[in-house]
Amino acid sequence: MGEFKRTLITTALPYANGPIHIGHLAGVYVPADIYARYLRSKNEDVLLIGGSDEHGVPITLKARNEGIKPQDVVDRYHEMIKNSFKEFGISFDIYSRTSSKTHHETASEFFRKLYEEGKFIERTSEQYYDEENKQFLADRYIIGTCPRCGFERAYGDQCESCGTSLSPSELINPTSMISGNQPVLKETTHWYLPLNDYEPWLKEWILEGHKEWKSNVYGQCKSWLDSGLQPRAVTRDLEWGVPVPVEGVEGKVLYVWFDAPIGYISATKDLTPEWETYWKDPETRMLHFIGKDNIVFHCIIFPSMLKAEGTFNLPENVPANEFLNLEGCKISTSRNWAVWLHEYLEEFPGKEDVLKYVLTANAPETKDNDFMWKDFQARNNNELVAVLGNFVNRALVLTHKYYDGVVPDKGELSAYDKETLSSIQVIKAEVEKSFDNFRFREALKNSMDLARLGNKYLADEEPWKLIKTNPERVKTILNTSLQITANLTIILEPFLPYSMEKLRGFLNLEKLVWENLGSSEIVVAGHTINQPELLFEKIEDAVIEEQLQKLEKIKKANKASSAKAKPSKDSIEFDDFGKMDIRVGTILEAEKVPKTKKLLKLKIDTGIDKRIVVSGIAEYYDPKELIGKQVSILVNLEPKKLKGIESQGMILCAENADGTLSIVSPDQAVKNGSEVK
Ligand SMILES: [Zn+2]
Repeated sequence: MGEFKRTLITTALPYANGPIHIGHLAGVYVPADIYARYLRSKNEDVLLIGGSDEHGVPITLKARNEGIKPQDVVDRYHEMIKNSFKEFGISFDIYSRTSSKTHHETASEFFRKLYEEGKFIERTSEQYYDEENKQFLADRYIIGTCPRCGFERAYGDQCESCGTSLSPSELINPTSMISGNQPVLKETTHWYLPLNDYEPWLKEWILEGHKEWKSNVYGQCKSWLDSGLQPRAVTRDLEWGVPVPVEGVEGKVLYVWFDAPIGYISATKDLTPEWETYWKDPETRMLHFIGKDNIVFHCIIFPSMLKAEGTFNLPENVPANEFLNLEGCKISTSRNWAVWLHEYLEEFPGKEDVLKYVLTANAPETKDNDFMWKDFQARNNNELVAVLGNFVNRALVLTHKYYDGVVPDKGELSAYDKETLSSIQVIKAEVEKSFDNFRFREALKNSMDLARLGNKYLADEEPWKLIKTNPERVKTILNTSLQITANLTIILEPFLPYSMEKLRGFLNLEKLVWENLGSSEIVVAGHTINQPELLFEKIEDAVIEEQLQKLEKIKKANKASSAKAKPSKDSIEFDDFGKMDIRVGTILEAEKVPKTKKLLKLKIDTGIDKRIVVSGIAEYYDPKELIGKQVSILVNLEPKKLKGIESQGMILCAENADGTLSIVSPDQAVKNGSEVK
């Protein structure tokens, strides 16, 4: 690794068609933020760059579905994403967006330079065109019958029923989603980046030159390079995006994968007039923090673009993470299977650091991992509360109790004190090594070792017992404990910024830097500390249960929305149907059957008589609301005893896909006793 004077950290641009979830956080933003905070603590020159990716077809589709403009969609989500990052404490130096003027200019210029230098190839192909709306159709704008499974609403790029990747020409009966007409094939010309030309260089640069990259990243690059690269279109026919800056070209924009990474450059431009130093000076180290789905774009395609342009630095490392799952299932925006950041911030106020901690302790650094609410609770209660919180609270509370909050003299250090204090240096060296290798889980675990050390030290020394027999010794023990506490505010600051700010407040200390870490003279004797509060609080079972129930509901809703109707039963004679005597009746009385969950006892006026019916709808209806309601009742069903009550008939219900029941009623009031036929 060369010597670098500064670091530029880019974070994958979240797509502005939905909010941020824990998968985004664990994969990209939490590790990038930790690393930026670490470098800042070392007084290094570092920029943390972020922004929203606001172009591409899914945004135009969403706008279309909602009957609004694409700009309205991105405005909504950009604001939402930006605010939740800010509240959560991701310390971006800038959070920009690709619909900005700077970005349009920067991306145009970039394209223009490559275009003029002949770095693209031009190709003409036939694509589907909607004659009524006079536009070419993106793959997602075409639906038709899947050639594999016969699903009738397969998209031009994929069948969501059987999962097969498709091209629009494979669809049977292709239809334009815009006009509903059958599209026609029409010739269109696009520009392509000939990635195959860059293959030998990429092999040299990555496979030979960057063997230190994480194995999951290196492995994916190798497999792409081994299977051979193809030219890739950099433009497409669409209205929404950065227009292709070539004369006489209309209705074409830069392909979103081409314009999005240029967004990092535009954002840096918006941040500082010295942006070129961060992008072009060889003494700047560029790092891309991304998720695994972005590896090919940041290790192969964007570097080829930068290489073609010729004046920019290439990434020094791309510490991509694998995926985080939620309770054993893949996180999915469309199925609402996620823990959403904006909801978390509302439901767990003041617990930003807890989520950061859990996502780091359990980060999917080398393989996919799972977020489990029970694990979230356990890590909070057993680690943050019981280890870190417990240690600092005892050190601070005892200092107040014995010395009115004034830091006592260090006195004579025992061998154990010296050993304990010198361990801080050992831990520091290990944490630095983990950071150098982008192993944030390990860095956090090693940092927490300092809190474990403090906890053990206090448990071994038992100052609360010694205070009666050897008060001088207690001064030394608490002085040592306060030094460890002060060191914790440095080592844990990248991971738990809000909590360490609080802890510095309790210690009455200004912000410390990495260089101070390892010192046993941070808090001096005679310094007064503030009254502490609890740093972390226990999370109760009920809170976790609520989150699990929320997910259970989503699971049920997803199941219901994808459920298919049962096939029809065998045919019957009309006479068979005629044997059933179904009438409309009105519910006169309703009450729960004691000691049951599901049963209601109903008194119904059937027009023929007034009778009792027991019905299994107690989970779906409040008895009070049922009184006066008209229902359909099968009156000639043989009576049956349920929980000791004779039920004379059955009221008709529709059973929804999720198992819930809904009473079938006439859509306007009719006379009781009216026949249903
Ligand atoms: Zn299919």
